[in-house]
Amino acid sequence: MRSLDTAPGDFRLQAHRLSDIAADYLESLNNLPAFPPHLSGVDVESRFNTAVPESGIGEEAFAGLADVMRMVRPNSPRFFAYVFGSGLPVGALGEYMASVLNQNVTAWRSSPAAVAIEKTVVRWLAEAIGCKGFSGSLCGGGSAANLMALMMAREAKVPANQSGYEGGVIYCSDEAHMSIPKAAMMLGFGRVGVRRIGVDEKFQLRVDELRAAIEDDLREKRKPVAVVASAGTVSTGSIDPLPAIAELCREHSIWLHVDGAYGALAALAIPEKFDGIHLADSISLDPHKWLYQSAGCGCLLYRDSGAAQRGFAYSEDYARSLSTDPIEGFAFFEESMELSRPFRALKVWLSLRYFGMEAFRQSIREDLRLAQVLAEAIRSEEKLELLAPVPLSAVCFRYAGGSKDPDKENRAILERVIERGKVYISNATIHGKFALRACVVNHRSSREDVLAVVSEVLETAGARPLR
Ligand SMILES: *Cc1c(COP(=O)(O)O)cnc(C)c1O
Repeated sequence: MRSLDTAPGDFRLQAHRLSDIAADYLESLNNLPAFPPHLSGVDVESRFNTAVPESGIGEEAFAGLADVMRMVRPNSPRFFAYVFGSGLPVGALGEYMASVLNQNVTAWRSSPAAVAIEKTVVRWLAEAIGCKGFSGSLCGGGSAANLMALMMAREAKVPANQSGYEGGVIYCSDEAHMSIPKAAMMLGFGRVGVRRIGVDEKFQLRVDELRAAIEDDLREKRKPVAVVASAGTVSTGSIDPLPAIAELCREHSIWLHVDGAYGALAALAIPEKFDGIHLADSISLDPHKWLYQSAGCGCLLYRDSGAAQRGFAYSEDYARSLSTDPIEGFAFFEESMELSRPFRALKVWLSLRYFGMEAFRQSIREDLRLAQVLAEAIRSEEKLELLAPVPLSAVCFRYAGGSKDPDKENRAILERVIERGKVYISNATIHGKFALRACVVNHRSSREDVLAVVSEVLETAGARPLR
């Protein structure tokens, strides 16, 4: 036997045992705190920052999982922070199986079924959000998708892969996600190459300001490369006016990328709010957010796979370097920054077939409804102030108890709320104010769970809820 072999029968036993541990854990989620109580950085470090063992400890290694489960943030029904999917158990089984199969989803010849399944899943996602005909690929997340989209935009509008780069401008609103300026930095546009456009009272990009900025840049002989429209900004969930932005982009031949990492999948439930999304050149969306998949599953969609190949194919004769068969010659690595790629699509494929699209639509609709329930509850509390409209499922608010320093007060409330572990929320900055933020992207949450946000904030602020 080689040193890393697993003895016959051992895997079966270990997998059975682990399945029981995982099932017990999932069944306990509703009773666990939303964050491990009294957990300090030092506790976690002292448990895990150990020396690597020279000799294996065998089965004993699995026992360490108990401490991992104790010190992670559980996928509680009362988790409403950031934008993060709640993790479907069926998807976890898909991920487990994907790891057992361990496919390298570079190209058809390396992984036939996995390539076909990923292409199918990408097509399903595109059609589900009203973008039939788009192709694309799965990736690590929305940040990776945004980076690749702007890479394609750069190569399409100011080709530089061969001999370097001339300079250009990326436009996005003040509310755009940090992954946009980050991508611009990585692509060499620099921070100066990102022009932030103001938003209106609904936190939507102002098209008049965008038009003026583009005209100004053209006059100054700068090159407008891409506009990034948000379809669900991370703070408030606002959706930029996509048709008007698309029109402006078409007029000036500017690449339109839609950052839908948070919101685009809500088009399953409320397509009317995403009118014009199909006019984009590229769209990011995140199955590990509003398709409730486990972490590490983003998706980039694009209208023209040729643009992806011009962006990412390393050799000019990419099509000829493999089989010329349109199916068997396909290579994701010619359309993506990744080469070795995990079988991300399996969990999505399994989940979508297991539940069907309608179940996801219903769940997203329920998240949207629960966000309105929460917003309504906040409006009805005298001491709570809703700080932004709630077009999707992010609810920004704060305690307004007459403190001289409401930012400080709300920061303290947030810390106490998280410490108590009943609900988990995060924060945002709204018009320069420190805001509490609850975001419902959680297939486990109920009305009671979202209302617990209100009672927890009021209780930790020292006030009693009115109800
Ligand atoms: C989450 C998010 C991203 C980044 O996606 P990751 O999957 O976290 O890399 C980008 N844009 C928006 C609007 C997001 O909500």
